[in-house]
Amino acid sequence: MTQTLEFTQQLSDHPKSAEERAAILADPGFGNYFTDHTAVVDYKVDAEGNGGWSGARIEPYGPIALDPSAAVLHYGQEIFEGMKAYKHADGSVWTFRPEANAKRMNRSARRLALPEIPEETFLESLRQLVEVDKDWVPNGDGEALYLRPFMIATEAFLGVRPAREVSFRVIASPVGNYFGGELKPVSIWLSEQYARAGRGGTGEAKCGGNYAASLAPQMEAEAHGCKQVLFLDPFNDNAVEELGGMNIFFVFKDGTLVTPELNGNILHGVTRSSIIQLAKDRGLEVQERKITIDEWRDGVASGDITEAFACGTAAVITPIGELKTKDGSIGSPGGNAGEVSMSIRKQLLGIQTGAVEDTHGWLTRL
Ligand code: PMP
Repeated sequence: MTQTLEFTQQLSDHPKSAEERAAILADPGFGNYFTDHTAVVDYKVDAEGNGGWSGARIEPYGPIALDPSAAVLHYGQEIFEGMKAYKHADGSVWTFRPEANAKRMNRSARRLALPEIPEETFLESLRQLVEVDKDWVPNGDGEALYLRPFMIATEAFLGVRPAREVSFRVIASPVGNYFGGELKPVSIWLSEQYARAGRGGTGEAKCGGNYAASLAPQMEAEAHGCKQVLFLDPFNDNAVEELGGMNIFFVFKDGTLVTPELNGNILHGVTRSSIIQLAKDRGLEVQERKITIDEWRDGVASGDITEAFACGTAAVITPIGELKTKDGSIGSPGGNAGEVSMSIRKQLLGIQTGAVEDTHGWLTRL
């Protein structure tokens, strides 16, 4: 696992023109457009059963040739990551805690029986891609280049066992605010019919299947005018877990922050762990513990819970305005963007964009 791979570069002979790129960067939305290149590293297990990574390269962005029997198409052996690259005022490009994403990818890999990728190869693939596509990093307010590393089982084989051929890739997409437009509190829908994860399942892995399973409840949320869905653990007193693509925090009136503990069901959010650190730096108490939907409902009614927010790479910190359920609204903790949520949001975004000092050494220059 210690080999250092040299990347080769095959540059696109039909990159977007500066005008086309400028038109895209003027209003990128989220996940609509992709840069001119992609990073690729292949993995193969040889006849002796030894696996290794090779063929590290930058190539033009484009369709992937896959055999119709490729394992990923049948058994969903796939994992991914998500992080952002930010352009600072001096034009340099930085990413936020990429080694945490590398570690999380390898945690997911272990659960999905995919090979672990050396952290250095993961980081180098980001560096290489951003180097060739640096003109795609936007620098408007709330904008960034979203980096999407992923790993797929490419072996052409229909038996159910871990694939012996795998491809690791990184694509990049210029993005604006995840929820679109100005930051405003989001309404979320309580999923009661569907759970996201079960004990011993794949809840804490970032695998595609978790997101496929979240789409039906997400559609239910949208039908009720909500942008995100909240999942509970029905076998654990309806403990709050997380949203379809974000972790969740509550702020209590004494200033304590509460977030569900990492119990195997929820994603180890990089934003979540950064918020815990920033809150502790401020002298706030942070509790990682079970919090049930009843405690939420009662806390809002009594005024003990003053703010709730969602957090993740895409959403940064987004206040939760209202929790809607099939029996009506649980009510909104504060209803508006709370003071603690917004203050931590400002600090976190400031660190990411270079406006606030990075005292934890969280930024890596690409
Ligand atoms: N939970 C889920 C299910 C997610 O998809 C994400 C986004 N990666 C998060 C939480 C937040 O994680 P992070 O802060 O690392 O983006």
